[in-house]
Amino acid sequence: MEEILTRPDPKLKTKAAEVEKIDNKTKGIVSFLWSVKEKSDALGLAATQLGIHRRIMVIGYEPTEKQKAEDPSLRSIPRITLINPKIIDSSKRLFTEKEACLSCPNEQFEVPRSKKISLEYLDEKGKKRKLKARGFLARIIQHEIDHLNGKVIADYKNPSVPLL
Ligand SMILES: [Zn+2]
Repeated sequence: MEEILTRPDPKLKTKAAEVEKIDNKTKGIVSFLWSVKEKSDALGLAATQLGIHRRIMVIGYEPTEKQKAEDPSLRSIPRITLINPKIIDSSKRLFTEKEACLSCPNEQFEVPRSKKISLEYLDEKGKKRKLKARGFLARIIQHEIDHLNGKVIADYKNPSVPLL
C-alpha cells in the first residue's frame, strides 16, 4: 500500500488538527480514507497514516470465512467514519494484546488498552454521535486515535515480536 506511510516517517508523529467543518475537503478526505482502506486488509485507517493531519478515521472489517478459519480470533467491526473522535470515559482496567499496523509493517507489539471506552465523534454528515465500545472494538478505536495523536504501536515500549 504505497499511500500508507510507514515508520519512521516523521509525519506519523504529527498530531492531527480538529476538523472545523464538514466541507467538501473533509468529505474528500473521508472518501480517500475509505478507498485506501478497502484496498488494504486494515481494520481501521487514520488520516495521519496518509499524511493528512486532520482528526478523521475509519474503521470496519468483515473477515472472510477463510480468514476466520485461519484465525478464529478475528471478529467483525462495524463500518464507521469518525471525525474528531474523543474518548470521554475509559475503564481503568487494561488488557494487553499483540497489535499489528500497516504503518509498522512486519512487526507486532504488545499494547495495553482500556477494556471499555465511551466516545463522542461526528459522523460524515457532521452529526454528533456517541459510541460505547469494549474489547476488540475498543482496542481498534484506541489504536486509530493514537495515530491522530502522532503515536504508533512501536511507541509502546514493549519488545517487538518479528512476524515471519
Ligand atoms: Zn495503525
